[in-house]
Amino acid sequence: KAKKRQKPNWLRVKLPVGQAYANVRKIVDENKLHTICESGNCPNMGECWGEGTATFMILGNVCTRSCTFCAVATGRPPEYDEKEPIRVAEAIKTMGVKHAVLTSVNRDELKDRGAEIWYQTVVETKRLAPETTIETLIPDTKGNWDALYRMIDGGQEVVSHNMETVERLYRRVRPQAKYQRSLDQIKLTNEYGKRTKSGIMLGLGETEDEIYKAMDDLVAHGLHILTLGQYLQPTKMHIEVAEFIHPDQFDKYREEGLKRGLKYVESGPLVRSSYHAERHVNVPI
Ligand code: SF4
Ligand code: SF4
Repeated sequence: KAKKRQKPNWLRVKLPVGQAYANVRKIVDENKLHTICESGNCPNMGECWGEGTATFMILGNVCTRSCTFCAVATGRPPEYDEKEPIRVAEAIKTMGVKHAVLTSVNRDELKDRGAEIWYQTVVETKRLAPETTIETLIPDTKGNWDALYRMIDGGQEVVSHNMETVERLYRRVRPQAKYQRSLDQIKLTNEYGKRTKSGIMLGLGETEDEIYKAMDDLVAHGLHILTLGQYLQPTKMHIEVAEFIHPDQFDKYREEGLKRGLKYVESGPLVRSSYHAERHVNVPI
């Protein structure tokens, strides 16, 4: 068994404090909303919430899948809440954020994969906060392309779908997902005219060549924006960190990604899918 690895100092982060942070906390609680910032134990909460931004997780906080890196609870989700779209939209309006990121758990048990709630949430947000730009980080619709098209039809500026890892590690990391299916979903999203974005976590044991292969596959399937960040183990029950990637290596991946045809690459140890998301709205496609 590998000896316990100490977190390198480039992963140390500021503690969440301050008025803006407290304000986000209050709005999230008052509207009974879920955020991936909290569910995912994100290390950037001090920074993002301190700037008044958060990533809302819709369709509940119980997921039908069991990705081995993810801190969201797995199980059979309760009925979804038809009023959630309006509550999310109101919270975004109250927060006055310029750019909102929405994500959800997987709802494989629903015929429409939750697409209608997704659509309503985007439409309501655009209605109540027309100045706010939106990124939707959507789940894998399991090949239900009608559900995909409904999910991405509400007028959002960016549609992301995370690959999470390289092809070889799918069975260990995303057991219910398929590498090619996620690529196909990105391809169709691009063909639908949307700005596409994806994310890969590093430090799960992938090789450099495997990352370049993933980049090439993503470019071939119409991906515009890629985020690369260090995987951190949320609890001892989750898949272990294989390696802490040095910041210089992240810089190298950014350059390589751009050379290989990506339009924008956000790459660094603390990068998460929704980190600096407002910078991705105007990436030319
Ligand atoms: Fe939340 Fe994303 Fe910021 Fe993390 S990076 S705190 S998940 S908005
Ligand atoms: Fe977590 Fe998403 Fe996987 Fe569900 S599908 S376990 S929310 S990463």
